Amino acid sequence: MKIPIEESAFSRNDRTADELRAKFARHGVAVVNLMSSPGSGKTSLLERTTGALGGELRMAAIEGDPQTDRDAQRLNAAGLRAVQIVTVGGCHLDSEQVADALGEFDLDQLDLLFIENVGNLLCPAAFDLGETADVIVFSTTEGHDKPGKYPEMFVLADLVVVNKMDLAEAADFDEAAFEADVRRINGDVPIVKVSCKTGDGVDGWADWLRELVRTTKDGA
Ligand code: MG
Ligand code: ZN
Repeated sequence: MKIPIEESAFSRNDRTADELRAKFARHGVAVVNLMSSPGSGKTSLLERTTGALGGELRMAAIEGDPQTDRDAQRLNAAGLRAVQIVTVGGCHLDSEQVADALGEFDLDQLDLLFIENVGNLLCPAAFDLGETADVIVFSTTEGHDKPGKYPEMFVLADLVVVNKMDLAEAADFDEAAFEADVRRINGDVPIVKVSCKTGDGVDGWADWLRELVRTTKDGA
């Protein structure tokens, strides 16, 4: 059965997302939509990213959470300019919220903008935000069996970051089983393994971001 109200909300979201995409392209800004479960380490990854690339790329972040501005405060303290969207319980970001938050930034002064979505492995996948790339941050403590359970999120990923590799053994995380599940859903999507706690692997993530910024500027 079709639900007309839902359809119109989606088409409105997509129209605004198309406008955002054009705007980002015009300014040559690479935009990364970071999606994950709550607690898998999106904000910690951005703190590490600030350390790795802060002197090299002009970056900022839009933070989405159901309540509090804790993540924006963390990132601002780490030296990454961040603006918080509080969704008041909402379980994903939509393109109109992102469009409103963009008023806080001068896109000509940015190379790379992160949109840290609300922690949720389901509906963020359904809302186009005009992003250049979709990145899933997954953590070993979530279990290697999850890609097959949440395929909508994994099928659209341009990159899968596996965080908390320092806990992989304690969590009985089966890397081969995880990768086989991801490959079944999304072919040869790159997988980068990191520990935001120790910093291991963060250089691979930084390399991927450099390349994304380079190709975005070439296309602008
Ligand atoms: Mg966060
Ligand atoms: Zn939602």
